[in-house]
Amino acid sequence: MNTIVELQKVEKGFGNDLVVKGIDLNVKRGEFLTILGPSGCGKTTTLRMIAGFEEPDAGQILLEGQNVVGIPPYKRDVNTVFQSYALFPHMTVNENIAYGLKMKGVSKSEITTRVKEALRLVQLESFGDRKPRQLSGGQQQRVAVARALVNNPKVILLDEPLGALDLKLRKQMQMELKHLQQKLEITFIYVTHDQEEALTISDRIAVMNEGTIEQIASPKEIYERPQTKFVADFIGDTNLLEVKITDMKENSLVLDFYGFKVGGKLGINQNVSDSMYLSIRPERVQLVKETPDLSYSLPGVVEETIFVGSFIRTIVQLAKGDRIVVMTPSQGKQIFQSGERVWVTWREEDGIVIGA
Ligand code: ATP
Repeated sequence: MNTIVELQKVEKGFGNDLVVKGIDLNVKRGEFLTILGPSGCGKTTTLRMIAGFEEPDAGQILLEGQNVVGIPPYKRDVNTVFQSYALFPHMTVNENIAYGLKMKGVSKSEITTRVKEALRLVQLESFGDRKPRQLSGGQQQRVAVARALVNNPKVILLDEPLGALDLKLRKQMQMELKHLQQKLEITFIYVTHDQEEALTISDRIAVMNEGTIEQIASPKEIYERPQTKFVADFIGDTNLLEVKITDMKENSLVLDFYGFKVGGKLGINQNVSDSMYLSIRPERVQLVKETPDLSYSLPGVVEETIFVGSFIRTIVQLAKGDRIVVMTPSQGKQIFQSGERVWVTWREEDGIVIGA
């Protein structure tokens, strides 16, 4: 797969606030790339710069190797789908989808064929004569997608496109969008603040925080090998314990946590320093009654046990007020009571050590 969109040291500020701080990003042809981050981190601004609605203060944006900075949005081979759908209320679905083609002077017969095809792709063949207000939220969103597809752009930019939908419809539309993207092999650049959505839908995720990209990787790698404390914390639930490295062989670490020895692996691209964090997912922690034979474990006291359907969530108090959350499948597992003394342990490869 070759690169279709490339951002090189892109910067953007509003007034005195630098909101995009020199980011680099490579998007591959035919990939579903998601920019994920909390509200206000600069996701939309980044997308709007790719679309051409905003211009960067510094850096370059390349589309198929050509710098597009300064080129207006309608001359870039990208289309945007907005959360608000941005449909014209007085036009029918057909007219909404045809609008861009009409402006470009495409012939009537070709417009009819292409609009029909776009509606077929989003499964709305029989809705062409309706007005947007006669459609449900999910259907309006599909019209917005059809309108973006109708020009056959190389890249589709989607800014929280499912944000206005209820959870069930949102999940259904996530799969629809993913299947459509795979079928058409169009590059999608998708913006969301919903980490579960990003993990479900993407080939790769760029995690953004305060105007910088902290990690770009597949959902599995982002989840299992977070590169920064922010990524570990933002994606899924994790436990973060402050540790000191006492021994290191290759990437295999012996760590000190208030005088107890525990194991872990050094995360990707980490500089070893005095203050490090161990990130460990709740479902990777084992909870046992007796001191385990495994060399590394921590003693604790059960603070709370919560039954959450197929899982039991146990909160264990460790040394000096630190807590660790443990998720264990509820079937056939021992349930510990509040106040019980227990041990927590994990496989070395499940404890990822990252900088502060
Ligand atoms: P959200 O998920 O809430 O949409 P975001 O990550 O997409 O957030 P942006 O919309 O890119 O964030 O905004 C980043 C920062 O830039 C915010 O602090 C925002 O207030 C500011 N900002 C965005 N657009 C403008 C503008 N046109 N003028 C001034 N400030 C702006």
